[in-house]
Amino acid sequence: MAGMSSSNTSYVARDLAHVWHPCTQMKDHEQQLPMIPIRRGEGVWLEDFEGVRYLDAVSSWWVNLFGHANPRINAAVREQLDRLEQVILAGFTHEPVIRLSESLTAIAPQGLTRCFYADNGSSAVEVAVKMSFHYWRNVGRGAKTRFIALSNSYHGETLGALAVGNVELYKAIYKPLLMDVITVPSPDCFEREPGESWAEHSRRKFTHMEAALQKHAHETAAVILEPLVQCAGSMRMYDPVYLELLREACDRHEVHLIADEVAVGFGRTGTLFACEQAGIRPDFMCLSKGLTSGYLPLSAVLTTEPVYAAFYDEYVKLNAFLHSHSFTGNPLACAAALASLDIFRTDNVLERNRALSAHLGLRARELESHPHVAEVRQRGMIVAVELVREKATRQPYPWQERRGLRIYRHALSRGVLLRPIGNVVYFMPPYVITPEQIDLVVEVAREGIELATCD
Ligand SMILES: *Cc1c(COP(=O)(O)O)cnc(C)c1O
Repeated sequence: MAGMSSSNTSYVARDLAHVWHPCTQMKDHEQQLPMIPIRRGEGVWLEDFEGVRYLDAVSSWWVNLFGHANPRINAAVREQLDRLEQVILAGFTHEPVIRLSESLTAIAPQGLTRCFYADNGSSAVEVAVKMSFHYWRNVGRGAKTRFIALSNSYHGETLGALAVGNVELYKAIYKPLLMDVITVPSPDCFEREPGESWAEHSRRKFTHMEAALQKHAHETAAVILEPLVQCAGSMRMYDPVYLELLREACDRHEVHLIADEVAVGFGRTGTLFACEQAGIRPDFMCLSKGLTSGYLPLSAVLTTEPVYAAFYDEYVKLNAFLHSHSFTGNPLACAAALASLDIFRTDNVLERNRALSAHLGLRARELESHPHVAEVRQRGMIVAVELVREKATRQPYPWQERRGLRIYRHALSRGVLLRPIGNVVYFMPPYVITPEQIDLVVEVAREGIELATCD
């Protein structure tokens, strides 16, 4: 029986017969790309059916924080499984969702006192967008129907989330289906002038946002952005001062601020939430990915008492937020999230990460001298290496050459999972990685970059 096989081959054939993979041109898997069936995971390692191991340097699409099969999270999910696997969250509640809401509101920027749940990042963005729009309608400001977003931003793949995002590759084809959004140039510091600091550049770029707010505030419900790092947008980064300026401007113009911390939340940028580095409190904060330490699909939108109050009324006024997902606040996912937060509490994670990210940055910056590396940038546990055809002019490699794919393949042959975005190689490892493993990952990336840029 094929299922009994101990080799990869039969799984690959069965997979390709029926599984349609995400974000994938399936034809690539005929020749270009090996499909890798994974039989188990432990810590930073993934293991295939032939016993080959891969170091998961991208945290399985940025979700995993404390390693695969983490004993503490496993135990928490197992314990919850024997009690209650799922229950309707309308009219009913359960201990894990109560405790998680208490915990999240305690650790989030002060004033975010209300938690609404969904089961993935895109849905969290949809919730925040709908809630903001609906808030203004409930308070009698029905003209505020539009959203301001940054160029190069990413907020997910469902139609609302896709509309407020700005990565052309994912968005262009669906434009006829999407709401019209006001797009403002990103403060992306890769584009700063020579000699200009990140803060100066981010401040200068804010003038576009100020202008957009001045022009559109009367018809705008919210500004949405990814605090500090535009992850899917090639890990482009900017200075916290932009968030400070934005908070002040949103208050002045009476526009909501939606912080999409789906990727950057839970310690990725060095602080528990990226917004903390600017000392700001958004009106909506979207969380997912690391929320359950990458164990189970869960997302949360945290918001304020004033927003909550605008929906609180007699039923017949029809002011309530009538949005739901079948698995809203799933108890198993909440139990995983609680165990993950418990690890943050007991294990000095942020402090330990400071040492790890210092090491990661130090090693990665050694790549800066490479003739085809334009920049090595870092924010906490995210480090990105930008490849260019020509360093002096920063002329990029044409995307059709798929240079990143060569790095991906080389890394796999060396037992490391790297997944470059176009011409950007990045490291976003689980927090349980060791300094020696960081050395391996960076060395393999160096070899890959060498191979990918030699012609
Ligand atoms: C991944 C991501 C999303 C979408 O989350 P999904 O769970 O994939 O729907 C939204 N926003 C940001 C910033 C993300 O990185």
